[in-house]
This record gives sequence, structure tokens and C-alpha cells, in this order.
Amino acid sequence: TSSGSSSLLWFRKGLRIHDNPALELASQSSHLYPVFVIDPHFMKPDPNATSPGSSRAGLNRIKFLLHSLVDLDCNLKKLGSRLLVLQGDPAQVLIQCLKEWNVKRLCFEFDTEPYYQALDIKVKNFALASGIEICSPVSHTLFNPTDIIKKNGGKPPLSYQSFIKLAGQPIPPLSTMHSSLPPVGHLGNCDVSEVPSIKDLGYEDAEQDEFSPFKGGESEALKRLAECMKDKAWVANFEKPKGNPSAFLRPATTILSPYLKFGCLSSRYFYQQIEDVYKTMPKHTSPPISLLGQLLWRDFFYTAAFGTPNFDRMKGNRICKQIPWNDDDKLMEAWREARTGFPWIDAIMVQLRQWGWMHHLARHSVACFLTRGDLFVHWEKGRDVFERLLIDSDWAINNGNWLWLSCSSFFYQYNRIYSPITFGKKHDPNGDYIRHFLPVLKDMPKEYIYEPWTAPLTIQTKAKCIIGKDYPMPVVSHDSASKECRRKMGEAYALNKKLNGLVSEDDLKSLR
Ligand code: FAD
Repeated sequence: TSSGSSSLLWFRKGLRIHDNPALELASQSSHLYPVFVIDPHFMKPDPNATSPGSSRAGLNRIKFLLHSLVDLDCNLKKLGSRLLVLQGDPAQVLIQCLKEWNVKRLCFEFDTEPYYQALDIKVKNFALASGIEICSPVSHTLFNPTDIIKKNGGKPPLSYQSFIKLAGQPIPPLSTMHSSLPPVGHLGNCDVSEVPSIKDLGYEDAEQDEFSPFKGGESEALKRLAECMKDKAWVANFEKPKGNPSAFLRPATTILSPYLKFGCLSSRYFYQQIEDVYKTMPKHTSPPISLLGQLLWRDFFYTAAFGTPNFDRMKGNRICKQIPWNDDDKLMEAWREARTGFPWIDAIMVQLRQWGWMHHLARHSVACFLTRGDLFVHWEKGRDVFERLLIDSDWAINNGNWLWLSCSSFFYQYNRIYSPITFGKKHDPNGDYIRHFLPVLKDMPKEYIYEPWTAPLTIQTKAKCIIGKDYPMPVVSHDSASKECRRKMGEAYALNKKLNGLVSEDDLKSLR
């Protein structure tokens, strides 16, 4: 296959050398063009955004991506290749490159996200019409979502147990070790550059109190994974709901999510590493709570998202309860800007802004609070904030979890509400997490740190934090707000049931 032909490897996610089937296919040629296109859709600075970054991505994620690209370029250079960075509308840029370099084969990882599905059609249409061979292997997930949906009669399984039953054993990672890659061909008139810096992209390297401690890239991902796997007992005893969401000096989970998001780490390789640990530790936890179980959650949501039209909205989404959420922009802003007056909630929102990562149960707390727990704001609005600010921001997983937490789908026990006061206290009675992310409260005695508005004025004065002035009063009373939320959820559920009863599948068929 290597007779004077050129391949173009189009990186989007999958920013790695290990277990990379698209790279495998692309490297069977005489010349290889490894390309990444900086897409203004995600990367163009937005001066009007509520915090530094583009309209779709906070600066933390943009930086993480640039780190990942630098690392990828470095790893490619070790194999005699390099990363070719271009900028602009990806479809236009790609088509120009395919023409200019006389490419015979185009390789890119299959992507289930609607944005990439639409983009891929444009590029594929051009390639097909030009006689270019297309290879688009599935390698972002453990399984091929299309296969699982097919096995289930055309619809995605909607419970974890039925998903596991159908899924079986995941696809194993490739074990190829590259010692070299085909050289890059001549570049012609394409506007290729090195990986740009954050400044090159038009961002000021904003002064922020604290930045994300996580650095992007495959090398960092593999180091982090190895570090986690060394502690075999920890891997074997991992139990998700038991972790401490307020642990920030030594977080309770792997923090591999940002690396999985960009594919700096292969989920299949991660899975295999966990299985290797289990072989030496016969007594270990099992799905859904085990570490292996977490990776299966990821594939569960990918499959549900891929097989559900309008997965990312309430309207037109057949698995989503229709709930009359309110449009209260003021409450929404208070939540987004960490000004709800509930220190546990606000500290988590500050961690989101500063680190671009929070523990799973911390995400639970703020998502429940915004939606069915206290503020009754639409889950899509919270989703948007997470989507922009999380480094691990992932279309399928983020939407799936917002559907879950708002009791719109997957999970329906709307009577179980996280208390914004007692939930955090259980894990962190001294409030160290709050003191770290909300330094304005650092001197508040622990008796009051979760409810500072109850502190006598003398104590507030001594702690140099007057509630209502230095830190806000709570935007709602949790007791009455949560009661009201339960009532509205009850009403909405009853109405959904009635509607579903009225419009049966048969009625729908006769309407068509
Ligand atoms: P670990 O506990 O170490 O788990 C290992 C890996 O398993 C994770 O990296 C992740 O890929 C996967 N995983 C863990 N929990 C889940 C889950 N509930 N659903 C799907 N996959 C999971 N995760 C994202 O990766 N991107 C998102 O955009 C995202 N949005 C979320 C929004 C809300 C409202 C909630 C409640 C959760 C969200 N999660 C999201 C899921 C979860 O919180 C994170 O994956 C996890 O906290 C990442 O930390 P970790 O890598 O240390 O996880």
C-alpha cells in the first residue's frame, strides 16, 4: 500500500500516538500529513464572554488543548514526523489541503458529536467525489455505539444494566509500537504553522487568582495513569459514591477526564490497565461503582447520546421529561458567578472557573441546586456553563449527566435533593474547601461556614466578612425553595404521565 501515495491524518480528538487506529491506517503510505485545524468555532476569542476565552470554551480548556498539541507535535517529531497546524473553517481548510497535497487516503477518528457529524459529511462528500479513500475508525470509546444500538433493535439501551449486558467485552487497544513514521511531503501553498501560543490566538494571558493545575497532552496523561495504577489497592477498592468531593489537595478520583475528552488517553488502554491491576487483586469492586464501571458510564452516555435525536435539549427529545423550568436570569447569573450565598455551591462554581474540573459529587450538588433542588432554572442553561468552562467538557457525558441530575431522564427520584448546607459539611466539617476557593470566608468559624448568614454580627465582623456586603445573603431559603421544587416536579411528572398516556405509540403512528 505504500507505493508513492500520500495520507492525511486529521486530528480532532484522539491527540495521541498510542492506540490510534487512524494513525495506524494513515502510516501505511509513503508520505504522511498529520494535520490539526484550529477551528474558530471553538477558539476565536470572545471579548463579550463572561470570563476569558471564546464563546464556547474557557481559557483553561484552550490552554489544555494547546499543551496537548505541543506534546503531540513533540511525540510525532520523535518519530520523524511533525504536526501541521492550520487555522480556519475545518472543512474548507481540509479540502484545500487534500487538493494541494494530492492525498490518496484521508484518515480521521469517527466522532459521534453532532458538530463533527455535520462537518465530516462535508469533507467526506468532497473526498468521495475526488476518489480519495476514507478511513474513519471508531476509537474514542470502548465500544462502537452503532453496534450496540443495532444489537438493541435500533434504539440505545437506556439503563446501565441493559447496556452492560448488550455491550460485552470492549475492543482491545492496539499494541503497535512505532519506531518511525513516513515523512511529511512537500507543503505547497498551504498555510502551515507550528502550534500557536495562547497569545498568537489573540488571548491575553489573563491574570487570574489561580489556574487549572492540569497540563494537557499524551505524555502527561500516561504519567498520570501510571501514577494512579501504581496504587493497586486504591484501584481495586475504588467506589464512586464514597469519594470526598471536597478533597482538592489530593482529589479522590483519577482526574483523567480532561485527557479522555481530547483523547490524549485511550479509554481502551485505560480499561486494559485497570484489568491488569484486577488480575493481581482478585478482590475488587465491580460496576457501576468501580473504576472500570466509570469508564462504562462514559460509553453508556456516548451510546445514549448517539442514538437519541435532540439529546441536548428538552424539546423534541423523547427520553426527556417536559418540565416548565423558569427563565430567571438573575438566579442563573448568581449561580454562574458564584454569588448564591451558599458557600458550598459558590466554592464549587469558583473551582469550575479556576480549575475547569470538579469532583463528580460537587457537580451533582450544583446541578441539583440550579435545577430541581432550589432554583428551578432550565438544565440547558447550566449545561451551557459547564460546556464552556469544564476542561473535560464532553457533549455526550455533560448532556447525559444534566439530564440525570435534573431528573429529566435516566434518574427520577426528584424527592432526593442534595442539601447545599449539610451535604458538604458531612465530608468537610471544617470547611477547608470553602476557605480555599472562597477566601472571603477564610476566617469564618466552622460553626457558621456553611451558613454564614446565621453568624451573629460580632462574629461576622471578627471574621472580616459581613454577609450582605462582603459575601451575599442566600438567594433563596433552601427549605421553602426545595419544597416548592418538589411540588412543581410532582405536577410536571403527573402531566408527563397523562400526556404519554394520551398520545400512545399507536396514536403517533396514525398521526404520521
Ligand atoms: P473518575 O472517577 O476517575 O472516572 C474515570 C473516568 O470515567 C472519567 O475520567 C470519565 O471519563 C468517566 N466517568 C466518570 N464518571 C462518569 C459519569 N458520571 N458519566 C460518564 N463518564 C464518567 N464528565 C466528563 O468527562 N465531561 C463532562 O462534560 C461532564 N459533565 C458532567 C456534568 C454533570 C452535571 C455531572 C454530574 C457530571 C459530569 N461529568 C462529566 C461526569 C463526571 O463528573 C466526570 O467524568 C468525573 O468527575 C471526572 O473526574 P475523573 O476523571 O477524576 O473521574
